[in-house]
Amino acid sequence: MKITILGCGPSWGMPSLINGFGDADPLEPRNIRTRSSILIEDQGVRILIDTGPDIREQLLRVGTPKIHALCYTHPHYDHMGGAEEFGMLTRERHEILHVYGRQKDILFLKSRMPYIFKAPEEQLIKTHYIRPYHKFQIAHLEILPIPQHHAASGSVGYRIGNFAYCTDVKSIDPEGWQCLKGIKTWILGCVTLEESSRWVHLAEALQWIKNLHPDRTFLTHLGPTMDYKTLKTTLPKGVCPCHDNLVIQV
Ligand SMILES: [Zn+2]
Repeated sequence: MKITILGCGPSWGMPSLINGFGDADPLEPRNIRTRSSILIEDQGVRILIDTGPDIREQLLRVGTPKIHALCYTHPHYDHMGGAEEFGMLTRERHEILHVYGRQKDILFLKSRMPYIFKAPEEQLIKTHYIRPYHKFQIAHLEILPIPQHHAASGSVGYRIGNFAYCTDVKSIDPEGWQCLKGIKTWILGCVTLEESSRWVHLAEALQWIKNLHPDRTFLTHLGPTMDYKTLKTTLPKGVCPCHDNLVIQV
């Protein structure tokens, strides 16, 4: 399975309109980060997790491949704000796209962008509700959604085989930790060095990694206190920062 980090940036992207690169080195190209999203490819099947406002640029960078399915983590702008792009792409290509998410997130998407679900697109976009801790299947891949605590919306982590993607998470229930047991590769959202009520911060993330002990952990959703080179040289063995376009073989 091949995972491409389409984007590993925080909600506001980097550089941001708020504070540019913040504490991160503006001369380090790996500190340029689009909004967080990944592409999963296995045996010709492609699954996109999230479509933030940078999704057009991200898909162009990887050659605009056919996407079979889309899974949403939660409805925040940096994860769903580019949904119109896939609506247009699906219509122009006459391709069926399966969209997975919690019922409340799919209903939010439909209320926010009703026009992408109107005829003829409605024939092409098939929505599916996921249930916490209930596996679902996309082609040959079995996917386990794991509920996560994050702001008011909560979010969903996804496990596929020995790999899991958990972004925008502050805490995970004991049942969720059980679901993550045995993973070998973990992509974990870690926005900041400082404590936050919405996200796990670096010290907490390192404790989680110690407890779960996957072989490799890649930190994503990296904010302006998270300088690429500093992280690369100071993180413990088996933990490294993501950068946009990083490819991980699982
Ligand atoms: Zn986010």
